[in-house]
Amino acid sequence: MKKHLRIFLACLCALLCCALLAGCTLTLPGAQPQSSTAPTAQQSSLVAFSSLAQNISEAGYYNILYTGDAEHTIYLLSLYDFSEMQHRVLCEKEGCTHTDETCDAYLQASTLVARPGALYTICPRYFTDPADESGLADFVAMDENGQNRHTLSTISDNWTFTGADEQYLYGFCEDAFGRISLSDGTETYLLRNAREKFLFWGKIAGVWDGQFVTVYWGDATRAEGVEIGLLSPEGVYTLLGTVPQDSFLSYSGSVLIGDTLYYIDSSNGTVMSFTLDTGETHEVSTALCQYDRDEGQGFHSCQRWYLSTANNALLAMVYGADETSGDIWKESLYHIDISTGATSPLSLKQEYRNKSSEAEMADGPGWGEPSFVTPLAETQQGLFVVSAYEFYMDSYLDENGQKVEYETSRPVYALISAEDYLASTPNYQEFKNLPVPT
Ligand SMILES: [Zn+2]
Repeated sequence: MKKHLRIFLACLCALLCCALLAGCTLTLPGAQPQSSTAPTAQQSSLVAFSSLAQNISEAGYYNILYTGDAEHTIYLLSLYDFSEMQHRVLCEKEGCTHTDETCDAYLQASTLVARPGALYTICPRYFTDPADESGLADFVAMDENGQNRHTLSTISDNWTFTGADEQYLYGFCEDAFGRISLSDGTETYLLRNAREKFLFWGKIAGVWDGQFVTVYWGDATRAEGVEIGLLSPEGVYTLLGTVPQDSFLSYSGSVLIGDTLYYIDSSNGTVMSFTLDTGETHEVSTALCQYDRDEGQGFHSCQRWYLSTANNALLAMVYGADETSGDIWKESLYHIDISTGATSPLSLKQEYRNKSSEAEMADGPGWGEPSFVTPLAETQQGLFVVSAYEFYMDSYLDENGQKVEYETSRPVYALISAEDYLASTPNYQEFKNLPVPT
């Protein structure tokens, strides 16, 4: 019996959007924060997660594949394998067709965290028992191939992870900043009233000097400056300085490179810097200001821009009027030279493969246009990106049992060196996808 294999792209799209907005950065295990003031005794393995980074280790990118049919969803642990450069279901059961719960890879988890040689997951009880209201979950560890699963502890199902070191996962649970031990799964709350501040109305921008770098812009009523600070792995918060609230773009408008937080001045599109060890701000580049438009009522087009990084290069996605084409929301991607402030346009765009001409017509002019390739994560093997989308026909049975065909697509992930990426040279190493569902 063959079941329709169906990939639910909505989840993936949401994930990708988050990654784009967050300007995803993966700091590799063993990488040390750049600081001239850090004594050697304070060297730590602390890394911050941003979006897809928590699902990536040196083994590859882990995700949950949703298959099955309308009545019965099958959740399979899968890996975009960096050594084989292919997507595979993490099942070692001989003769398995990966179509039901008996598959080795079957996993109902809300969260995956990939660490060197291991994978940790949160499996909420309500996933297996919809009536369960305990708010509890199993904290499950396994090896990098998804084998040897064992439950370490029972924890809250409410955790959002923001980083890790060799001993702990760090993140937010209930109202607190806390950690979970990787050896025995013990959960510890370290700082109360931190979730609102550093998750809802702020973010963790990265790691510097063995501590998380935090940005807190506050809720809509907040009038004071944006706080930039440090949150230690022990839960101690230190304020480093403030930036005027009206010139700071929250969420997507700031990224950390080394010891400097770069941000867009939302009043005019200037790229600014905040140096962590001195607390000083400087103007980095005004080259993009020409694309900013005042939308009236104090709204600027630069408030939709976002910053990201490609290794140590600063990137800005810019939306603004283009006089040549007349497009008032033209998307452009730039590399900003942080030493000179000069900008250079990047041109790699995602390729659409096998998209039917009917679908192209249905999209209408200006819609469904391929987007720029942007780094989803930085790995030792290169930048992790979506280089293309593969289009194919899928189908489902409607309420009358009639087969309805529709065109859908799935991403083609790839690795590319930062040098090739910044030179807009499409020298991709693509991951081979699983066979198209039949
Ligand atoms: Zn299987």
